[in-house]
Amino acid sequence: MESETRKQHHFNAKRTLFVLIGAMQLAGCTNAGNAVEFCLDGEFDLGARYQGMHPAPGERYPTRFCYVTDDTSGRIQFSGSGQSNPDMQGEFVVSYFVPDTVRIVNREAPPDIEFTGKRIIYEALRHRRVDPKLFVAELEAHPEWIVGESDDGWRTVNYPGSPFESRVRVEAGKLSEVRTQADVPLRGRVPVVWRWLWPDTGAPEVRVLIEDDVVFAAQASWRELSAREARDLWRLSDGREAVTLDGDRWPAKIDMQMQTIVDGVYLVTGVRTGFAHMVLETAGGLVVADAPAGWVELQQLPPADLVPGYGISRLSENFVDFLEASFPGTPIRAVAITHAHDDHAGGARAFAAAGADVYAPEHVAAFLSDALNRTTMPEDRLTRQGGKVTITPVHDRLTLDDQNNTIELMVLSHGPHVFAALGVWARDAGVFFQSDLHVPNSDAETPRDDRVATECWFAAWAVAHLTPDTIVINSHSRPQTPVARLARYSDSESCRALAIK
Ligand SMILES: [Zn+2]
Repeated sequence: MESETRKQHHFNAKRTLFVLIGAMQLAGCTNAGNAVEFCLDGEFDLGARYQGMHPAPGERYPTRFCYVTDDTSGRIQFSGSGQSNPDMQGEFVVSYFVPDTVRIVNREAPPDIEFTGKRIIYEALRHRRVDPKLFVAELEAHPEWIVGESDDGWRTVNYPGSPFESRVRVEAGKLSEVRTQADVPLRGRVPVVWRWLWPDTGAPEVRVLIEDDVVFAAQASWRELSAREARDLWRLSDGREAVTLDGDRWPAKIDMQMQTIVDGVYLVTGVRTGFAHMVLETAGGLVVADAPAGWVELQQLPPADLVPGYGISRLSENFVDFLEASFPGTPIRAVAITHAHDDHAGGARAFAAAGADVYAPEHVAAFLSDALNRTTMPEDRLTRQGGKVTITPVHDRLTLDDQNNTIELMVLSHGPHVFAALGVWARDAGVFFQSDLHVPNSDAETPRDDRVATECWFAAWAVAHLTPDTIVINSHSRPQTPVARLARYSDSESCRALAIK
């Protein structure tokens, strides 16, 4: 069934490719030969996105999305700046060269990175149509995408490359609303709405809603780039040749590998790009840290899955299958959810379906129990079993006994990344796993400077709670840090400066 759908997609993709390029050229013609920058300036609600300190709406951070479209080519440059986490300010710039090249633009730290040989035309279009003017122009150019029309002015549109239909309303030539759906971890298959307001005076405004929560509210603006700006935009950073990678690694790739840390302690890397998980062997079965889920790209319209087709539970189901193949006959005893961020907790249904106990910090246990058992969850292994996720809350500390591999789950509270987190300490093995609290770039004796608050906070906690020879590992980077090195973080200038504040 899955592969049939995929084949169908490939077929449609080939057929529509040339039509699409035509549409881009048509829409681009309104720019009179220049590049136009369309920006949305507003606030993003990380709490509503389940990436905040608490998994509840009301945690808003300034966010800017900009889309530069070119005159007659289909290329587009997207730049996003804001907070991806409460403690992570960032900016990223990506250029799409239709039909098959994506460039991560590293102006501050060249060279750029290019992924080649991946068809990215739909992804380019999903960025492009965030601009409501281009949206309307594209729709006019593609009546064949419109599959229905109601008396009250709503059109049903099948955008190629998107799994869900969109309902679209254009009033007096202006886009007023787009209603579509997305599979959002910890929410389920839920409505996503882009609602446009066009006040008589001033710039148009947009509200992006997931269910009833406004996750992004912003004001729009357009600016024509100077000829020089337009030219520079597409140049390689610092004139240096880009590092090229295979297109199948964009935007994320699953490539699971098992690495042995010490006897009975493993790290499975490549669950998806940038995601690794500790796996511990005990007599009672495997203990796994974190239940990963994909990510919905809300800066695209319709929103898209980071790992297409892997929605909410499949990434972790895939991980479970890998564990079953790697440890034949060994049950999965438990999964420890390090924190309630959707990318670390959203796959817990797959582990419940595999018979694992699910542990989480007490503070978020009720939330996770509700979220993971919502009736909106699309069909997965757990629904097919008629099962349910039961969360075992961890208050302070909880020991999972084993003769050779005692495991302690430890709650870390009041941190700058998230209010409550869980660390997994393989005591006998001397390895401690955590997510997003200590993510070193290197073996340096000072914290990385873009997330000093969290790194210093964690270093102090580790020194107070773990033995000096314990090795700390994490889900997003490969350096292994002995606690003795974290002790030296506390002496660093950046941690000392924080302590004085
Ligand atoms: Zn996180």
